[in-house]
Amino acid sequence: MSEKVLELKGLHAVYGKKIHALKGVSLEVRQGEIVALIGNNGAGKTTMLKTVAGLLKDQPKKGEIHFAGQRIDGWQPEAIARLGIVYVPEDRGLFKELTVAENLELGLWGRHDADVDKDMAFVHTMFPILKERGRQQAETLSGGEQQMLALGRAMLRRPRLLMLDEPSLGLAPRIAKSVYEALAAISRTGTTILLVEQNARLALGGAQRGAIFETGRVVL
Ligand code: ATP
Repeated sequence: MSEKVLELKGLHAVYGKKIHALKGVSLEVRQGEIVALIGNNGAGKTTMLKTVAGLLKDQPKKGEIHFAGQRIDGWQPEAIARLGIVYVPEDRGLFKELTVAENLELGLWGRHDADVDKDMAFVHTMFPILKERGRQQAETLSGGEQQMLALGRAMLRRPRLLMLDEPSLGLAPRIAKSVYEALAAISRTGTTILLVEQNARLALGGAQRGAIFETGRVVL
């Protein structure tokens, strides 16, 4: 079996004194897998991804996060990002007043290696619309196009682990399907993907493994 990339051991996240959003979540993700976490509103999916990315100050309250052999819980988000963990939030995190091309360039921030042009060409081949609409303001893209831009920009960061929060949210079924086809293409490049969704049929169709989340626990 392939190498374990991410391992969560008994994660607990608590907001304030009462809201116990993660109640002992354990999960393993292996190199090259697409793993989908399915759950209803408020199940704790976003909390889990943000906890892994280090974006929630003081979380996890308990438990361990291991990535590629290092224990990373409690690390600053910048340090976690430098390991190659890229998180695409539910709102896609685009700079809406910038153009498509400018948003993609931000994905190259800090990169000075020889593969930059090759990677940009890969993104333009995967999503030709991003090349055609390079000068269009990101805000004026359709929902599906914005999701493609977010994925393209994330790819330019050369992620080892790509974490996606509801990549199909707000998309028409046909567009959502094409986003999942793009994820399969990204996965074929060797990138490991952990995603969360409410749309179980779509997510489980596109993933190798799934976990069902219910009020802070993996139940299946
Ligand atoms: P959805 O699919 O609706 O986005 P989710 O599974 O991603 O839901 P979370 O956003 O992780 O769920 O929320 C889990 C629980 O934690 C919810 O009860 C939510 O109200 C609560 N919660 C999330 N963020 C905060 C916060 N900053 N402060 C207090 N409670 C929070």
